[in-house]
Amino acid sequence: MSTDSTPEMLDGGCHCGRVKVTIPARSAGVVVCHCADCQKLHGNSFALFAAAPTDVRWTGEEHVVWYASSPANERSFCGHCGSRLAKRPTDAAGQAARILVSAGLFDPALPRTVVKNLWLEQKPAWVEAARTAPLTPEAFVALALAEPIGTETAQYGYALRAASGNKKPPGVIALTWIAASDPAERERIRAHSRQNVQDFQAEPGFISIITGFTGLRGFTVTAWEDEASMRRALSGHHAVAMAELFGERFVASVWTSVWTPTRVNRLWVRCTACGALEDASDDHRACNCCEAPLPERPEFW
Ligand SMILES: [Zn+2]
Ligand SMILES: [Zn+2]
Ligand SMILES: [Zn+2]
Repeated sequence: MSTDSTPEMLDGGCHCGRVKVTIPARSAGVVVCHCADCQKLHGNSFALFAAAPTDVRWTGEEHVVWYASSPANERSFCGHCGSRLAKRPTDAAGQAARILVSAGLFDPALPRTVVKNLWLEQKPAWVEAARTAPLTPEAFVALALAEPIGTETAQYGYALRAASGNKKPPGVIALTWIAASDPAERERIRAHSRQNVQDFQAEPGFISIITGFTGLRGFTVTAWEDEASMRRALSGHHAVAMAELFGERFVASVWTSVWTPTRVNRLWVRCTACGALEDASDDHRACNCCEAPLPERPEFW
Protein backbone atom coordinates (compact mmCIF):
# COMPACT_ATOMS: atom_id res chain seq x y z
CA MET A 1 0.00 0.00 0.00
CA SER A 2 2.91 2.38 0.60
CA THR A 3 4.93 3.99 -2.15
CA ASP A 4 8.70 3.83 -2.40
CA SER A 5 9.16 7.25 -0.79
CA THR A 6 6.93 6.47 2.22
CA PRO A 7 8.22 4.40 5.14
CA GLU A 8 6.10 1.41 6.16
CA MET A 9 5.73 2.70 9.73
CA LEU A 10 5.53 6.22 11.11
CA ASP A 11 6.99 7.20 14.49
CA GLY A 12 5.46 9.90 16.65
CA GLY A 13 5.54 11.15 20.22
CA CYS A 14 4.16 13.64 22.73
CA HIS A 15 5.73 17.04 23.42
CA CYS A 16 7.91 15.86 26.34
CA GLY A 17 8.87 12.60 24.58
CA ARG A 18 7.74 10.28 27.40
CA VAL A 19 5.00 8.71 25.24
CA LYS A 20 5.93 7.34 21.82
CA VAL A 21 3.70 5.82 19.16
CA THR A 22 4.15 3.94 15.87
CA ILE A 23 1.45 3.49 13.21
CA PRO A 24 1.45 2.04 9.67
CA ALA A 25 2.17 4.69 7.04
CA ARG A 26 -0.98 3.69 5.16
CA SER A 27 -3.09 5.05 8.06
CA ALA A 28 -1.87 8.58 7.41
CA GLY A 29 -4.91 10.12 5.76
CA VAL A 30 -5.94 12.98 8.02
CA VAL A 31 -9.50 13.15 9.32
CA VAL A 32 -10.38 16.39 11.09
CA CYS A 33 -13.13 16.44 13.71
CA HIS A 34 -14.68 19.82 14.46
CA CYS A 35 -17.15 18.65 17.12
CA ALA A 36 -17.72 20.66 20.30
CA ASP A 37 -15.97 17.99 22.44
CA CYS A 38 -12.86 18.09 20.25
CA GLN A 39 -12.75 21.89 20.39
CA LYS A 40 -12.73 21.82 24.20
CA LEU A 41 -10.42 18.84 24.60
CA HIS A 42 -7.88 19.62 21.86
CA GLY A 43 -7.93 23.42 22.02
CA ASN A 44 -9.66 23.38 18.63
CA SER A 45 -10.26 20.67 15.99
CA PHE A 46 -8.82 17.16 16.34
CA ALA A 47 -6.67 16.09 13.36
CA LEU A 48 -6.44 12.31 13.55
CA PHE A 49 -5.32 9.15 11.85
CA ALA A 50 -7.76 6.23 12.08
CA ALA A 51 -6.00 2.89 12.58
CA ALA A 52 -6.65 -0.64 13.74
CA PRO A 53 -5.57 -0.85 17.42
CA THR A 54 -3.46 -3.93 16.64
CA ASP A 55 -1.46 -1.80 14.18
CA VAL A 56 -0.62 0.88 16.78
CA ARG A 57 2.33 0.47 19.19
CA TRP A 58 2.69 2.67 22.28
CA THR A 59 5.65 3.07 24.62
CA GLY A 60 5.64 5.05 27.86
CA GLU A 61 2.09 3.88 28.53
CA GLU A 62 2.59 4.52 32.26
CA HIS A 63 2.36 8.25 31.42
CA VAL A 64 -0.91 7.88 29.47
CA VAL A 65 -4.08 9.08 31.22
CA TRP A 66 -7.52 8.14 29.84
CA TYR A 67 -10.52 10.41 30.30
CA ALA A 68 -14.14 9.36 29.59
CA SER A 69 -15.13 12.24 27.31
CA SER A 70 -18.62 10.85 26.63
CA PRO A 71 -20.57 7.66 27.48
CA ALA A 72 -19.31 6.09 24.24
CA ASN A 73 -15.72 7.34 24.01
CA GLU A 74 -12.56 7.95 25.99
CA ARG A 75 -9.53 10.08 25.17
CA SER A 76 -5.94 9.98 26.33
CA PHE A 77 -3.25 12.54 27.07
CA CYS A 78 0.31 12.51 28.39
CA GLY A 79 0.13 12.98 32.17
CA HIS A 80 3.38 14.97 32.13
CA CYS A 81 3.08 17.40 29.18
CA GLY A 82 -0.66 17.19 28.43
CA SER A 83 -0.28 16.31 24.72
CA ARG A 84 -3.52 14.84 23.38
CA LEU A 85 -2.80 11.30 22.18
CA ALA A 86 -5.83 9.31 21.05
CA LYS A 87 -9.55 8.67 21.17
CA ARG A 88 -11.24 5.26 21.27
CA PRO A 89 -14.71 3.82 21.90
CA THR A 90 -15.32 2.62 25.48
CA ASP A 91 -17.02 -0.68 24.56
CA ALA A 92 -14.86 -3.72 23.82
CA ALA A 93 -16.14 -4.24 20.25
CA GLY A 94 -15.44 -0.62 19.39
CA GLN A 95 -11.98 -0.76 20.98
CA ALA A 96 -11.13 -3.78 18.86
CA ALA A 97 -12.27 -2.00 15.69
CA ARG A 98 -10.25 1.21 15.69
CA ILE A 99 -8.36 3.93 17.49
CA LEU A 100 -8.00 7.57 16.42
CA VAL A 101 -4.44 8.83 16.95
CA SER A 102 -3.55 12.54 17.01
CA ALA A 103 -1.93 13.59 13.73
CA GLY A 104 0.06 16.24 15.67
CA LEU A 105 2.20 13.53 17.29
CA PHE A 106 3.87 12.83 13.92
CA ASP A 107 6.33 14.66 11.68
CA PRO A 108 4.54 17.71 10.22
CA ALA A 109 6.61 17.35 7.01
CA LEU A 110 4.96 14.00 6.13
CA PRO A 111 3.01 14.06 2.86
CA ARG A 112 -0.54 14.03 4.24
CA THR A 113 -3.90 15.18 2.98
CA VAL A 114 -7.18 15.86 4.75
CA VAL A 115 -9.50 13.11 3.55
CA LYS A 116 -12.52 14.08 5.59
CA ASN A 117 -13.90 16.81 7.86
CA LEU A 118 -16.35 15.62 10.53
CA TRP A 119 -18.97 17.59 12.48
CA LEU A 120 -18.76 20.71 10.32
CA GLU A 121 -22.11 21.77 11.80
CA GLN A 122 -20.28 22.40 15.12
CA LYS A 123 -17.14 24.06 13.70
CA PRO A 124 -16.26 27.60 14.75
CA ALA A 125 -17.29 30.28 12.24
CA TRP A 126 -13.65 31.16 11.53
CA VAL A 127 -12.79 27.65 10.23
CA GLU A 128 -13.32 27.03 6.52
CA ALA A 129 -13.48 23.37 5.53
CA ALA A 130 -15.16 21.18 2.94
CA ARG A 131 -16.58 17.85 4.07
CA THR A 132 -14.13 15.82 1.98
CA ALA A 133 -11.17 16.59 -0.18
CA PRO A 134 -11.17 14.97 -3.65
CA LEU A 135 -10.24 11.36 -2.88
CA THR A 136 -7.91 9.10 -4.80
CA PRO A 137 -9.27 5.53 -5.19
CA GLU A 138 -6.70 4.34 -2.62
CA ALA A 139 -7.70 7.05 -0.11
CA PHE A 140 -11.38 6.28 -0.66
CA VAL A 141 -10.85 2.58 0.10
CA ALA A 142 -8.66 3.39 3.13
CA LEU A 143 -11.38 5.69 4.46
CA ALA A 144 -14.17 3.16 3.88
CA LEU A 145 -12.16 0.51 5.73
CA ALA A 146 -10.96 2.74 8.58
CA GLU A 147 -14.39 4.05 9.45
CA PRO A 148 -17.06 1.44 8.68
CA ILE A 149 -20.48 3.04 8.59
CA GLY A 150 -23.64 1.11 9.39
CA THR A 151 -27.26 1.44 10.36
CA GLU A 152 -29.42 -1.25 11.95
CA THR A 153 -30.33 -2.60 8.54
CA ALA A 154 -27.34 -1.79 6.32
CA GLN A 155 -23.56 -1.81 6.37
CA TYR A 156 -21.64 0.47 4.02
CA GLY A 157 -18.20 -0.12 2.56
CA TYR A 158 -16.61 -0.03 -0.86
CA ALA A 159 -16.91 -2.02 -4.06
CA LEU A 160 -14.85 -2.17 -7.22
CA ARG A 161 -15.44 -3.71 -10.65
CA ALA A 162 -12.74 -5.09 -12.92
CA ALA A 163 -13.99 -6.08 -16.38
CA SER A 164 -12.21 -7.81 -19.25
CA GLY A 165 -14.30 -6.30 -22.06
CA ASN A 166 -15.72 -9.78 -22.84
CA LYS A 167 -19.25 -9.09 -24.13
CA LYS A 168 -20.56 -12.65 -24.14
CA PRO A 169 -23.41 -13.52 -21.75
CA PRO A 170 -22.21 -15.22 -18.56
CA GLY A 171 -22.65 -18.99 -18.50
CA VAL A 172 -21.54 -19.22 -14.86
CA ILE A 173 -21.62 -16.78 -11.93
CA ALA A 174 -19.62 -17.35 -8.73
CA LEU A 175 -20.75 -15.73 -5.48
CA THR A 176 -18.40 -15.69 -2.51
CA TRP A 177 -18.17 -14.00 0.85
CA ILE A 178 -15.36 -14.20 3.36
CA ALA A 179 -15.16 -12.74 6.88
CA ALA A 180 -11.83 -11.59 8.34
CA SER A 181 -11.18 -11.97 12.07
CA ASP A 182 -9.53 -8.55 12.27
CA PRO A 183 -8.27 -5.73 10.03
CA ALA A 184 -4.88 -7.43 9.56
CA GLU A 185 -6.60 -10.50 8.10
CA ARG A 186 -8.70 -8.25 5.92
CA GLU A 187 -5.50 -6.79 4.41
CA ARG A 188 -4.22 -10.32 3.81
CA ILE A 189 -7.47 -11.23 2.02
CA ARG A 190 -7.29 -8.05 -0.06
CA ALA A 191 -3.70 -8.84 -1.08
CA HIS A 192 -4.82 -12.30 -2.23
CA SER A 193 -7.72 -10.90 -4.22
CA ARG A 194 -5.48 -8.40 -6.03
CA GLN A 195 -3.42 -11.36 -7.27
CA ASN A 196 -6.54 -13.37 -8.12
CA VAL A 197 -7.86 -10.56 -10.31
CA GLN A 198 -4.58 -10.57 -12.26
CA ASP A 199 -5.04 -14.31 -12.93
CA PHE A 200 -8.66 -13.74 -13.92
CA GLN A 201 -7.72 -11.02 -16.42
CA ALA A 202 -5.37 -13.48 -18.13
CA GLU A 203 -8.22 -15.98 -18.71
CA PRO A 204 -10.09 -15.35 -22.02
CA GLY A 205 -13.37 -16.71 -20.60
CA PHE A 206 -13.38 -14.21 -17.70
CA ILE A 207 -16.10 -11.54 -17.99
CA SER A 208 -15.87 -9.41 -14.84
CA ILE A 209 -15.58 -9.30 -11.06
CA ILE A 210 -17.34 -7.02 -8.59
CA THR A 211 -15.72 -7.21 -5.18
CA GLY A 212 -15.52 -5.15 -2.02
CA PHE A 213 -15.71 -4.98 1.76
CA THR A 214 -18.27 -3.88 4.32
CA GLY A 215 -16.40 -3.80 7.61
CA LEU A 216 -14.63 -7.15 7.97
CA ARG A 217 -16.81 -8.95 5.41
CA GLY A 218 -15.57 -9.24 1.85
CA PHE A 219 -17.65 -10.36 -1.12
CA THR A 220 -17.15 -11.18 -4.81
CA VAL A 221 -19.40 -11.68 -7.81
CA THR A 222 -17.46 -13.11 -10.76
CA ALA A 223 -18.93 -13.82 -14.19
CA TRP A 224 -17.48 -16.38 -16.61
CA GLU A 225 -18.27 -17.71 -20.07
CA ASP A 226 -18.37 -21.24 -18.69
CA GLU A 227 -17.20 -23.34 -15.77
CA ALA A 228 -14.04 -24.50 -17.57
CA SER A 229 -12.75 -20.93 -17.85
CA MET A 230 -13.52 -20.32 -14.16
CA ARG A 231 -11.67 -23.48 -13.13
CA ARG A 232 -8.60 -22.52 -15.19
CA ALA A 233 -8.45 -19.07 -13.56
CA LEU A 234 -8.94 -20.49 -10.05
CA SER A 235 -6.06 -22.94 -10.48
CA GLY A 236 -3.53 -20.07 -10.20
CA HIS A 237 -3.07 -17.89 -7.13
CA HIS A 238 -6.55 -18.71 -5.85
CA ALA A 239 -5.39 -22.27 -5.10
CA VAL A 240 -2.51 -20.86 -3.00
CA ALA A 241 -4.95 -18.72 -1.01
CA MET A 242 -7.30 -21.68 -0.42
CA ALA A 243 -4.37 -23.77 0.84
CA GLU A 244 -3.57 -21.05 3.41
CA LEU A 245 -7.20 -20.85 4.42
CA PHE A 246 -7.52 -24.57 5.11
CA GLY A 247 -3.95 -25.13 6.30
CA GLU A 248 -3.57 -22.14 8.62
CA ARG A 249 -5.61 -20.16 11.12
CA PHE A 250 -6.74 -17.63 8.51
CA VAL A 251 -10.24 -16.09 8.13
CA ALA A 252 -13.25 -16.33 10.50
CA SER A 253 -15.77 -17.79 8.04
CA VAL A 254 -16.22 -18.25 4.32
CA TRP A 255 -18.82 -19.40 1.78
CA THR A 256 -18.42 -19.97 -1.95
CA SER A 257 -20.91 -20.96 -4.65
CA VAL A 258 -21.20 -21.33 -8.41
CA TRP A 259 -24.45 -20.55 -10.23
CA THR A 260 -25.73 -21.25 -13.73
CA PRO A 261 -28.46 -19.00 -15.16
CA THR A 262 -32.12 -20.04 -15.17
CA ARG A 263 -32.75 -17.36 -17.79
CA VAL A 264 -30.56 -14.67 -19.40
CA ASN A 265 -32.80 -11.78 -20.41
CA ARG A 266 -32.25 -9.27 -23.21
CA LEU A 267 -29.88 -6.35 -22.77
CA TRP A 268 -31.55 -3.02 -23.51
CA VAL A 269 -29.76 0.14 -24.67
CA ARG A 270 -31.47 3.50 -25.19
CA CYS A 271 -30.94 5.22 -28.55
CA THR A 272 -29.56 8.68 -27.83
CA ALA A 273 -31.13 10.06 -31.07
CA CYS A 274 -34.79 8.95 -30.86
CA GLY A 275 -35.00 7.74 -27.25
CA ALA A 276 -36.18 4.20 -28.11
CA LEU A 277 -35.10 1.40 -25.78
CA GLU A 278 -33.48 -1.06 -28.15
CA ASP A 279 -32.81 -4.79 -27.67
CA ALA A 280 -29.04 -4.77 -28.20
CA SER A 281 -28.39 -8.36 -27.08
CA ASP A 282 -27.04 -9.27 -30.55
CA ASP A 283 -24.71 -6.22 -30.45
CA HIS A 284 -26.17 -4.60 -33.60
CA ARG A 285 -25.07 -0.98 -33.98
CA ALA A 286 -27.93 0.89 -35.71
CA CYS A 287 -31.23 1.82 -34.05
CA ASN A 288 -34.15 -0.15 -35.51
CA CYS A 289 -36.45 2.86 -35.08
CA CYS A 290 -34.37 5.73 -36.50
CA GLU A 291 -31.23 4.03 -37.88
CA ALA A 292 -28.93 6.32 -35.88
CA PRO A 293 -25.81 4.63 -34.47
CA LEU A 294 -26.50 3.10 -31.05
CA PRO A 295 -24.21 3.73 -28.05
CA GLU A 296 -21.76 0.90 -27.56
CA ARG A 297 -23.45 -2.06 -25.94
CA PRO A 298 -22.23 -2.67 -22.36
CA GLU A 299 -21.02 -6.09 -21.23
CA PHE A 300 -23.71 -8.38 -19.82
CA TRP A 301 -21.95 -8.22 -16.43
ZN1 LIG B 1 4.45 14.06 27.26
ZN1 LIG C 1 -14.77 15.47 17.64
ZN1 LIG D 1 -33.25 5.61 -32.61
